[in-house]
Amino acid sequence: MTASNHELFERAQTHIPGGVNSPVRAFGSVGGDPVFVKRAEGARFFDENDQSYIDYVGSWGPMILGHAHPDVIEAVRDAAKSGLSFGAPTVSETRMADLLCELVPSMDMVRLTSSGTEATMSAIRLARGFTGRDRIVKFQGNYHGHSDSLLVEAGSGALTHGVPSSPGVPKAFADLTTTVEYNNLEQVREVFAEVGDEVAAIIVEPVVGNMNCIPPEPGFLEGLRHVCDEYGAVLIFDEVMTGFRVSLGGAQEHYGIKPDLTTMGKVIGGGMPVGAFGGRREIMEMISPMGPVYHAGTLSGNPMAMAAGVKTLELISVPGFFDVLTRRTQALCDGLSAAAKAHGIPMITQNVGGMFGLFFTDKDRVANFNDATACDKEAFKAFFHGMLDEGVYFAPSSFEAGFVSMAHGEAEIDATISAAERVLARMAG
Ligand code: PMP
Repeated sequence: MTASNHELFERAQTHIPGGVNSPVRAFGSVGGDPVFVKRAEGARFFDENDQSYIDYVGSWGPMILGHAHPDVIEAVRDAAKSGLSFGAPTVSETRMADLLCELVPSMDMVRLTSSGTEATMSAIRLARGFTGRDRIVKFQGNYHGHSDSLLVEAGSGALTHGVPSSPGVPKAFADLTTTVEYNNLEQVREVFAEVGDEVAAIIVEPVVGNMNCIPPEPGFLEGLRHVCDEYGAVLIFDEVMTGFRVSLGGAQEHYGIKPDLTTMGKVIGGGMPVGAFGGRREIMEMISPMGPVYHAGTLSGNPMAMAAGVKTLELISVPGFFDVLTRRTQALCDGLSAAAKAHGIPMITQNVGGMFGLFFTDKDRVANFNDATACDKEAFKAFFHGMLDEGVYFAPSSFEAGFVSMAHGEAEIDATISAAERVLARMAG
């Protein structure tokens, strides 16, 4: 036996703050020791002691084909043989950009980055440069990465760790970020009536995945589109999570609304570090070196990341992929809700495409930050640890969405539901 997860975590904390390189990995809100992953395959990963887990985190979204898909691994191997990075253009970047613009309805041009944070940070700068305005509007509990302007009343780790706005974000930046309740169009209209001509952009997660999984109410995204048109603000859909996850063309295709700019990440890198921002040609033409708004990156469009991403996009473009993924996600959610109901535990599920959320609440839907934070955290904690002991790995926080991959077949989903039945029975009893 190698060291336990507890020992590995202790050791990691010597030189890594909190023992992790991204906060939610630390199990801060659920307690206990994080699982140190040695390897992964398909729907499962294995810890350093070869304990197997059915994984519903999938690296927080990218692994839509399952872990270590042979074709993706081969594409990366092939790319690596030709060199890891050149800092000069490659045709693989053109291929990636062509694919993104072909598949994402609103995308005329696109620029690649190395993370979702860079993509949203640069999209905000671009919107400010394009409009000549400084204010941005975002939604409570939406997370757009950790750049200064966007780390205000944010979701995900910021919320899990109880610091939705971070020390170190200058007040002057926070003052330029107005936050509004998600799914509350009335409040958006009120803000615009007051300061609409100062607003460069609205940035929104079209389906929120960073305060669990919260879909937009009918009319909400349309309303944002109208408000932006009326006041000349840029509408940014942050599809880092929803892109190539809720449907092939992202949430914008699923709901039929065209944003001006879109940010991407996760799936488009197939597990390698990638992000992207793109959209209307006249806006994108303002990016350096074409235009005056600066954006750069030593590793942007990295050849291995392009190889993994392009292969992933090709494999998920096969007809029917998202129908199957959606059906599997629905089957999982239906099974979990039925198990909770059978044991009298108030728990509901919400899902779109291949993303889902579990909420311990007696409400019949969760629509915003207040609803999400009012859910029973202790019940989630008990469920999370019960499932972990059963070999099922859900996101270690009640504020994160879960992800189903194409490697989650009937066997994995049935095993998950059976495990949930046992755990929920113990919780009820
Ligand atoms: N936007 C959204 C919607 C996200 O979910 C995330 C990450 N979970 C980001 C931006 C930031 O991406 P990254 O972690 O790659 O910087």
